[in-house]
Amino acid sequence: MAKILGIIGGGQLGMMITEAAKKMPEHISKIIVLDPTENCPASQVGAEQIVADFKDKNAIIDLANKSDIITYEIESGDSTVLKSVEKNADVNPSPETLRIIQDKFLQKSFLKENNIPVPEFIKIDAMEDLVNGLQDFGYPALLKARRDAYDGRGNFKINSEKDIEKAFDYFKGQKLLLEKFMQFKMEVSVIASRNTKGQIKTYPLVENIHEENILRETIAPARVSQEVTKKAEHIAEKTMQVLRGAGIFGIEMFVTQDDDVVINEIAPRVHNSGHHTLQSSKTSQFEQHLRAILGLDLGDTELIHPTIMYNILGDVSFEGKYSPVNISDENVFLKMYGKEISKPLRKLGHFNLVAKQGETIDQLLKKLETLKEKVIV
Ligand code: ATP
Ligand code: MG
Ligand code: MG
Repeated sequence: MAKILGIIGGGQLGMMITEAAKKMPEHISKIIVLDPTENCPASQVGAEQIVADFKDKNAIIDLANKSDIITYEIESGDSTVLKSVEKNADVNPSPETLRIIQDKFLQKSFLKENNIPVPEFIKIDAMEDLVNGLQDFGYPALLKARRDAYDGRGNFKINSEKDIEKAFDYFKGQKLLLEKFMQFKMEVSVIASRNTKGQIKTYPLVENIHEENILRETIAPARVSQEVTKKAEHIAEKTMQVLRGAGIFGIEMFVTQDDDVVINEIAPRVHNSGHHTLQSSKTSQFEQHLRAILGLDLGDTELIHPTIMYNILGDVSFEGKYSPVNISDENVFLKMYGKEISKPLRKLGHFNLVAKQGETIDQLLKKLETLKEKVIV
């Protein structure tokens, strides 16, 4: 029988999950999202909405009572509350996995214990730990909030002794970790999935270009050697073997100057670097996520067309209503998220630039330069 799907978070990820769910009426009869912003992106495409804070316990219980199956587009949900509602609805990925992943220190410790490579890191509880850590790692180093960070907003780069106090004050009261700064060659990611029956499938390795800590472009496939691809895919597989729970996991990695691969972080949800799959693959990551949590066979993950995904971000010096974006090009697939207000570097939409028969990534990159100008908001 078709199920009622509850999603915590109704932003662009919840929106694209909703759109995928609506194409599976035989499996999903209704979608309800929990989101604090009225008329959130997911509600604009047909999800019913409970307007409440993500951490509102009663609202989560309400969502669980109304749903057969719960998932989330954000990793800041309360894992204890989610665990407690498992008697009312299936929760995927599992609250236990969420608990580990949503704390960057627990996550990195978990990976390290399982012999999966990560940058050097230590827990910071006091200024003394920070001073000692910096002595060990040297400069620059990254001080990170352990929880609730996204788009790099929980990172502070410490370039020299001068920054120590500023960095520590910036995070007043938050739990922290310090990481060695990686002079990486490239950032890459694997979108991996596991269904409730244990079947695992991963999408091909992609390359991610960040600016100011925020994802700007994803190039599928990544421009790396076969050896690096193998290493990254091996790390992704190993990670999936130790992490429990069904759904999509976005595994972000760094390729070092020596062509080693280490994990930066894992997202227990559909991931921005998987948006290219909307056009580049037979199964989008959003459909795959639903297939995974519903216990359906996972779909094909092969990359059919090389594709570049470009994020449309709010101008750094503007907040307010923005002008509509239009591109007409048969190889460009524009997706705006229905957000009324632009804020500095806010994710407002993206487009996928798909290669025509025989077109190379270099040719796509050239074309991208002219397209970028059309999406300045
Ligand atoms: P997301 O939006 O991906 O959840 P986030 O706020 O959780 O982001 P991170 O992924 O930890 O933040 O970091 C954001 C970016 O900062 C990374 O993609 C990378 O470009 C850079 N970065 C993070 N950690 C390191 C590191 N140890 N060394 C060098 N650069 C780093
Ligand atoms: Mg993150
Ligand atoms: Mg990240």
